[in-house]
Formats: sequence, structure tokens, C-alpha cells
Amino acid sequence: MKGIIIGGGVIGLSIARELNKLGHDITVIELYRVGRSASWSAGGMLAPQSEGLEPGIFLDFCLESRDMYETYVKTLERETDMDIGYWKCGILCPAFSDEEEKMLKERIQIYNDMGLTGKWIDRNSLEGRYSSIGKDIKGAALFPDDAQVDNRLLITALEKYARSRGIKLLEFTEASEVIVENGEYSAVRTKNEILESDYCIITAGAWSEHFVKCHVFPIKGEMAAIDVTKKDIDRVIFGSKAYLIPRKDYKRLIIGATEEMVGFMDGNTVKGLMHIFNGLKDTLPYLVNNTIQETWFGYRPATPDLLPVIGSTGIKNLYIATGHYRNGILLAPITAKIMSDLIDRKHESHYLKEFSINRFRSDKNG
Ligand SMILES: Cc1cc2nc3c(=O)[nH]c(=O)nc-3n(C[C@H](O)[C@H](O)[C@H](O)COP(=O)(O)OP(=O)(O)OC[C@H]3O[C@@H](n4cnc5c(N)ncnc54)[C@H](O)[C@@H]3O)c2cc1C
Repeated sequence: MKGIIIGGGVIGLSIARELNKLGHDITVIELYRVGRSASWSAGGMLAPQSEGLEPGIFLDFCLESRDMYETYVKTLERETDMDIGYWKCGILCPAFSDEEEKMLKERIQIYNDMGLTGKWIDRNSLEGRYSSIGKDIKGAALFPDDAQVDNRLLITALEKYARSRGIKLLEFTEASEVIVENGEYSAVRTKNEILESDYCIITAGAWSEHFVKCHVFPIKGEMAAIDVTKKDIDRVIFGSKAYLIPRKDYKRLIIGATEEMVGFMDGNTVKGLMHIFNGLKDTLPYLVNNTIQETWFGYRPATPDLLPVIGSTGIKNLYIATGHYRNGILLAPITAKIMSDLIDRKHESHYLKEFSINRFRSDKNG
């Protein structure tokens, strides 16, 4: 079968790879370079527990994808002969107040009751581990099974896979319209041509609303990276003031992130960077002397209930996978799996019902 995917971020490229393995002839249409939008901007945390997700179907979805990651990475690394920086480093969530301490301890209990790992580390133990820690830190929750991947290496590997396995990447090409005839998808229009295929998948991230009747909007995040050494920090630290992500090679520490509903407003702001650098200072104060490597920003694709929209659009042979908001890197493996199962085998995962576009339909008059 011939498929077109609109949007070459982590979601589009992961689905392309899965369908390519099943023998589909895939073309990815990408406005710029593949993977240079949200997927490049992300921190790469695989952190359903540190994100504090409540028990329920979305947490199950995230945990299942986290469980898939090790094998997903090993296979992709073998296919591309690359190391993509997967590191099951565990994530430490510091409490900056008594309320946060109470909330984190309750969270540990809830997760432990579900059979998930998590434990409390007191301030004394943290002091023994780091040169100095923020004066307000009471202690921290440790979630040992949360992990990280270097999302830029992941994108590079997915692109390498695509180029070496015959997936067509139409970069610097804008998909301007999805053509529907008699209630059925027929083709995609770009500036220069009309491309026909058996099906089309919209994975245009925060820009997906252009193609479907579903409100998808950007939530902007600002980030920075600084130099770091192995003795500075041993694992991801994810608090309410900032998160700090040392890469596996200890050559870079990512600091994030702001969350703002300002539409598409490009650029880093003084306020945004002050926010994350103050978060760094309040967490591990000695790191403020380190050199800044880079600053950047990105747009998380969000829906009104902040859950993804995955599956059929209601138009025959037109599918969607977007709205992954803060967890698109984490959710790439499972999204690719359930989308390829749906398209190739017509198998409907139970998650598709939860994340169906239909839940927004009454707002948008079909
Ligand atoms: C600051 C920040 C930190 C984050 N941290 C994490 C994290 O730690 N862990 C995690 O799991 N997730 C994280 N996320 C979320 C994650 O990055 C996103 O959920 C994920 O990258 C979304 O992937 P995507 O492929 O849907 O979108 P994108 O990566 O945005 O890709 C969509 C692509 O569609 C293209 N496109 C748009 N319109 C068109 C068109 N008309 N024609 C052709 N192409 C088009 C765009 O150019 C873009 O390349 C973070 C996001 C941000 C911004």
C-alpha cells in the first residue's frame, strides 16, 4: 500500500518506519528539515512517573511505551549503527516546600501500590551526593524506572533509517491541502503537485489543525543547554522549578522548560530564560558558573484535554496522530505500533477509542 505522512517529526518518522517494515511505500512530506520542530526541541525524558500522571488509561499508555523503549532503541541502533543516548538513569523529583514533599510522598505511595518503583530520598542523602543543593529542597522522590533518550540522536537515527530503506522524504515541501472526494481521502496537494496515495496520516504536530476539524494548538517551551562534567550531576532532576537533564556522555546538560500559551511566537525571551536559569540556581546552585552552549524554544502540540488524538479522522483512509503535548518522545514507539496495526491489519488497539478524534466532535459540528 502507498501512504503519505504529513509532518516529519518523531511521530511521523516513527510511523513511517513501522509501516516501511510492513512493506508499505511511504512518502513523508515535511515543511522544513525532518525532525527540526518539537521533536528537536524536546528534553527526551521518558518520565511518566516524574510527570506525576494520575492512574488511568493515559498513564497505562505512557508506561507501556516506556517499557517498549529499550527494545525500540536497541533495534533502531542495530538498523542504523548509531548510539541514540538511551539511558535508564532514573529521575529525581525534588520537593521545594512541605506541600510538595507531601504530594510527592503520596505519589510514591500510589505508584508503589500499583507495583511501580519509587522511593523518598531525604535532604541529608542528597547533600552527600551533590556539591550543594538548593536551600529550600526538603528531599526528593526517586523514580528509578524513568529514563531518557537523546531526542536529536533519535531523530537522526529515524532519518537515517528512512533514507536507507527507501522511505521518500520530501523536505522543504508544504502540504497545503488534503483532497477528499465523496467522503474519502484521495490525495495531498503541495505547491508543485498533487500526490495520490491509498491513505494519508496527519502528523503535523502543533500545525495539524490546518488539516482536520480538531483544535490542536502550540504550547511554547523555552530551553537551554550548558556545559557539564560527570561530577556535577548523576541523573535527571525534575522539579517544579526546572528540569535538568545530563546527557549520557556528560557533555551537555539540558535545562527546561517554560510552558506558555502564546501561540506561535518564535524566539527565546529574557523572562523565559530567567525562569529556567533561576530554576537551575534553586536546584543545584553551583551549576550557574557553567558555560551556556545553546538556547532554543519549541511548540508542544496540544489538544483541549491535553491528550493525544490518534486513529481515524472519520474520513475514509485519512488518519491522524498528534497532540502528544509533553510526552511525544516517550509515546513515539507505542503510537507507531498502534497506527501501523490500524492501517496494515485493521486492528484497533483499545487505546484508539480513548484517544479518538470523536471526543471533540460535538464542539466542532462534525
Ligand atoms: C520544550 C519542549 C520540551 C519537551 N520535552 C519532552 C520530553 O522531555 N519528553 C517527551 O516525551 N516529550 C517532550 N516534549 C514533547 C515532544 O517534543 C512532542 O510531543 C513531540 O516532539 C511531537 O512530535 P510531532 O512529530 O507530533 O511534532 P513535531 O516534531 O513538531 O513535527 C511536526 C512536523 O510537521 C511539520 N509540518 C507542519 N505543517 C506542515 C505542512 N503543512 N506540510 C508539511 N509539514 C508540516 C513541521 O515542520 C514539523 O517538522 C517536549 C516539547 C517541547 C517543545
